[in-house]
Amino acid sequence: MDVENVLLRGIESDSIIVTDNKEIFHANPSTTYIFGIEKQVAIDMSDVFSCIHPNDREIVESWVNSTSKVQKQLQFRIVTKEQEERWIWSRIFPATPENSEDRRMVILSSDISEMRENDEVLKQREITARTTEEKYKVLTTLLPEMIFETDPAGILTYINLKAIDTFEYGSDFYINKLKFTELISKEDRLRCSKFLKRIIDKKSDVSEVEYIAVTKSGRKFHVALYVTRMYAKNEFTGLNILMLDKTVQKHVENYQENLSFLSKSALNFLTLSNDDDIFIFVGKNLSKFTSKSVIIVFSYDQNTDTSIIRYISGIVSYVDELMDILGKAPEQFDIKLTEKFRKTWLSDKTLKQLDGLENIFTDNVSLEKARRIEKLLNIETFHSMGIVRDGKLFGGLIIGTKSRAKPIDTQTIETFIYQAGIALHRKQIDNELVKAKLIAEESDRLKSAFVANMSHELRTPLNGILGLAQVMLTADNIDSEIKTNVKMIVESGNSLLSLIEDIMDVSKIEAEQMKIKNTPFILNSLIDQLYSIFSVHPLYLQKNDKQKNIKLKCIKPSGNISIISDPDRLKQIFINLISNALKFTQKGFIEFGYYIDNNKITFYVKDSGIGIPKNKTAEIFERFIQVDSTLVRRFKGTGLGLAISKGLVTLLDGNIWCESELGKGSSFFFTIPYIPATVSIFDNKSQKEQDMTYLWDNNTILVVEDDVINFKVIEAMLRKTNAKIIHADNGLKAIEKVKLYPQIDLVLMDVHLPEMNGLEATSKIMEINPELPIIAQTANAMSDDRDKCIEAGCMDYISKPIDMKELLTKIAIYLSGE
Ligand code: ADP
Repeated sequence: MDVENVLLRGIESDSIIVTDNKEIFHANPSTTYIFGIEKQVAIDMSDVFSCIHPNDREIVESWVNSTSKVQKQLQFRIVTKEQEERWIWSRIFPATPENSEDRRMVILSSDISEMRENDEVLKQREITARTTEEKYKVLTTLLPEMIFETDPAGILTYINLKAIDTFEYGSDFYINKLKFTELISKEDRLRCSKFLKRIIDKKSDVSEVEYIAVTKSGRKFHVALYVTRMYAKNEFTGLNILMLDKTVQKHVENYQENLSFLSKSALNFLTLSNDDDIFIFVGKNLSKFTSKSVIIVFSYDQNTDTSIIRYISGIVSYVDELMDILGKAPEQFDIKLTEKFRKTWLSDKTLKQLDGLENIFTDNVSLEKARRIEKLLNIETFHSMGIVRDGKLFGGLIIGTKSRAKPIDTQTIETFIYQAGIALHRKQIDNELVKAKLIAEESDRLKSAFVANMSHELRTPLNGILGLAQVMLTADNIDSEIKTNVKMIVESGNSLLSLIEDIMDVSKIEAEQMKIKNTPFILNSLIDQLYSIFSVHPLYLQKNDKQKNIKLKCIKPSGNISIISDPDRLKQIFINLISNALKFTQKGFIEFGYYIDNNKITFYVKDSGIGIPKNKTAEIFERFIQVDSTLVRRFKGTGLGLAISKGLVTLLDGNIWCESELGKGSSFFFTIPYIPATVSIFDNKSQKEQDMTYLWDNNTILVVEDDVINFKVIEAMLRKTNAKIIHADNGLKAIEKVKLYPQIDLVLMDVHLPEMNGLEATSKIMEINPELPIIAQTANAMSDDRDKCIEAGCMDYISKPIDMKELLTKIAIYLSGE
């Protein structure tokens, strides 16, 4: 069996070591595996054999050191890192070139632990070979690494098969013709020549250096060189060079490095809070992995179609010259994009600008200037790339690589810039969202203000109409026809008022302006109040007038159950539901009440009216939905009551629903959480109110009101009480009057006033006379009004249109001093 066969058979799993004196010149990967060494090259043989079993060490060493030129073989044991004993079979092929001082050998080793018992196998693997230099050449020729020999001048004298394949030249071409350094790329060639020279001159023993090699067709790849001197008869004969292809390793290293860079940059982009930071981050990082480059990062403004330099590097030493050429600092240079340039930027690929700066700057910088800049900066290649996302251009970059710089890693740059595009796009969306939010908030504010103003504007004239009509009704000797007409004015006015209130409520619920005020109150008082309201309600009486026989019942658990909720809103919901029941019921009964069930209170309103089709019982809670508009027209209605009720119930944390049978009647239910009140509440106000008399001959009331009609209304309402009335039509005058007339017992203060508003005037009056009761009157029915009045120092609050009875009752309370 000859050497070639041995190599071919053993090459997969056997260790192949080529030694030069006692240093390893080449070792294949299996060597690491068999002898457990970390490094394969440039280590001493003793490192490889340090794992040899102590009992076998002596024999192996003497075997390796033997100068015999005969092929030998030996079996010995090694101890692995895991302390496992393994049997190794090594064969040594002395391969020292003829007449050489050096001792070179090839050692083939196989792990034979598994097959040691089987002698037959061993016998089969036994080899014999002639011990000549020829055999060494055969071995090196077949080695999977690239091996070269040169003469003392560096001209190639030998090249193995692997190298021939790799460099694509054909052996005839370069033996004795080509210099080894011509296999190294232009940019590294000088460095390599210097390195080889140092080895030749024995000035260096560094044997591992990395370069970029270049093949005949121009393919470039990373290599590591291991170089030793060769001698024959003490005379230097040239260099022995082992070349390892580092492409895969370099690729893996670069890949890992770039991957780690890109994953970090993706996170970093998320933390950058503004565009400027993003552009600077892009520039700084590009500089990191493009050496010897000029980097310019631009932002692009779509509105002005210009680009502004946001980052520039690699020009520090040329700033003055650049200023001379450009006429201003490079960073102050705004670029108007040419159509051609924009196109190159819009692609999300790095593009080589073949014409150099000329192509980039034609419209901005003259050709002559562009050339001068290129020369000044010593730039060989220009790459450009746009920062693009969703077809939108956010900016771009130009990388100018100087001659002899490493080629740029376009793939990593493209991914990185892709991330930058996402970051800038996200920032733009964020900014748009913030703008949209501000606009939405502003429009919300405007909407609420509009609703408040509308409410005020509508209520003020209505106050005049209703107030005067109410006063007319109290007149003695009024003609009965006029009385009927005035009653109709009051009725229409009230419908209009409730319509305004409904619209306001819907707007408030929608604008989330409806406030819930939870307070403790006695539930049964609320039910009683409702009963008293409806037992005299026009809708109820009217039906009775026409002999519609409806029985109004209210069912409530006994006892003073106090709960915490918003009594005003509960009342509002009940009023909506009971009014509807009265509207849609001609005969039978209307029953309302509540029951408590665990932690829930269920309120209900049942009627024996016309009922609602099953498929409409959910729909009617939507705005403006009415089951039968002709019927509704008869009863009046806007289709808003149930929508408002639903909105309010939701705000009270409950549910509302309807069960109904057409022609038989409907039941409306709504729930709220049952939160018992822990404080006792006494409710004796209504009795007091009933006992009030309205004769105030000795009292003076200051009415602060700017609207003449409204003042007339109040004056008329108070006329029969004989109270003395003083009028002020703005806040400042009100203060003057309070100072001038200490006999004033009470102030009726309008809130919206010219010069100084009612709330401010109230605060000032409080400073003059803290005891003086002030009742605010306002047409602005929006939330918080009552609170604002009380805060300013008002004792109470009355809303416009003013209800005469309510006005008199409230004044009576404060005049009586209770
Ligand atoms: P409105 O009563 O102002 O039309 P609502 O929102 O209060 O508006 O009611 C919506 C519709 O639901 C009514 O138009 C009517 O068709 C129906 N509806 C409400 N309550 C009853 C009821 N108790 N009986 C029959 N139909 C009712």
